[in-house]
Amino acid sequence: MPDVMLLRGSVILLGAAFGAACGSFAALVVDRVPQGGSILHPPSTCASCGARIAVYDNIPIISWLVLRGRCRRCATAIPVSLFALEVVGALAGACVATWF
Ligand SMILES: [Zn+2]
Repeated sequence: MPDVMLLRGSVILLGAAFGAACGSFAALVVDRVPQGGSILHPPSTCASCGARIAVYDNIPIISWLVLRGRCRRCATAIPVSLFALEVVGALAGACVATWF
């Protein structure tokens, strides 16, 4: 029985991670597409200082929390709406994963 619960918890965690990534991508689409920008290029940058965001600073939810919602280089606040979209995505992903 514990193996089943571990597997189920892992599936829910993966669903949450996938959902958070989808939420992060949705934020990117909402930010770029209305301005005619590409969703593939350029890589993520700080809206204030223009610094390229490193991979380790671009992990949904975790990076926002580690950086306390601020750019690593210039300390400008990262909109909480981006974090909220990632959290909503994670919750939605976890909910969907409970069906499996
Ligand atoms: Zn910055």
